[in-house]
Amino acid sequence: MEHIKIHNVSKLFGDTKAIDDINITINQGEFFTLLGPSGCGKTTLLRTLAGFYQQEEGDIFFGDTFINEVPAHKRNIGMVFQNYAIFPHMTVFENIAYGLKARKVKKDEIVVRVNEALEMVELSHLKDRQPSQLSGGQQQRVSLARAIVIHPGLLLMDEPLSNLDAKLRVKMREDIRSLQKRLNITTIYVTHDQEEALAVSDRIAVLNNGKIQQIGRPHEIYLSPVNKFVSNFIGSTNFLEGKVEAGKEGENAMVTVEGVKLATKFGRPFQGKVLYSIRPEQVKIRDDKETSPTLLEGEIVDATFLGESVVYKIIFNSGYTISVHEHSIRFGMLREEGNKVKVDLNPNEAVIFDESGEEVIN
Ligand code: ATP
Repeated sequence: MEHIKIHNVSKLFGDTKAIDDINITINQGEFFTLLGPSGCGKTTLLRTLAGFYQQEEGDIFFGDTFINEVPAHKRNIGMVFQNYAIFPHMTVFENIAYGLKARKVKKDEIVVRVNEALEMVELSHLKDRQPSQLSGGQQQRVSLARAIVIHPGLLLMDEPLSNLDAKLRVKMREDIRSLQKRLNITTIYVTHDQEEALAVSDRIAVLNNGKIQQIGRPHEIYLSPVNKFVSNFIGSTNFLEGKVEAGKEGENAMVTVEGVKLATKFGRPFQGKVLYSIRPEQVKIRDDKETSPTLLEGEIVDATFLGESVVYKIIFNSGYTISVHEHSIRFGMLREEGNKVKVDLNPNEAVIFDESGEEVIN
């Protein structure tokens, strides 16, 4: 069921179009993430939805309600910010009760609802503490409880985990996701951290320069990026220049990369220069003795051991260096710097863009 509809929305600051003609439809109960680099417009879009900013163009609907003219405090939204924004002079309990008092909820009901929210964020035992006596993670749980206690129709979260250390970030994102599922609350989440976005979201919108680049489920965005920007921003990839002599739609055609001809199917007829994008874990390292015209010769120039995987830098005769991840390492299986290897560029998994990187051709 459709819940949030953002239709042709643009927001200007002076001459800067912070968000540019945004169209998104979000379903009831969905965990939807706005992902993109600093300055791409994520916060501006979130604050426009919250009613803190008024867009110059476009319409916003919450369900059937046209929301453009509805002031922020009447939009029934719970918000969680990066810097927690909790009141330092109030206890945990009072912080969480604040929104209910402001809405003139009866005292008895406030106690019940605050206790319920405290339980949900696992903070019941700390309800009488002052915020200064809490860790960063606990403070963020207070702001989460404060956001959900009002039973909002929509939860907006702006980089809520950015101030926490790496391990706690992972724990908190799991907790947020499971609470969100339990409450079945439509959530719009802002982050610049692509791994976090992949881990928690039902769907992701990737933004750049105020514009949506792609909307999709995490694996769709990762495996089928629609342009060079998305392919580079989500995960990491190797870009190699190549060319196609004559690729017919739906037929196996040859793309020449680093002097090697690789067969792949094309989604449309194509001829000319291309950008061949292959992720480090999709490249396969073969034994130096293997022979095949589609394998490239190279030498390992760097090996970085990361625990669960090793990242190799392999240089080709042309001087191009490719990055390759290899998993399932056993003792004695580590490849050494200086080793000669052969590399399979795995055309079945590569995404091939036109020269500009704006369109996928395979
Ligand atoms: P970050 O991850 O760094 O918070 P963001 O993706 O949330 O970035 P926004 O804060 O939405 O980006 O900013 C989008 C663009 O709008 C940027 O170019 C920014 O400089 C500009 N901008 C944002 N807020 C204002 C403002 N109040 N006045 C003028 N320009 C602004």
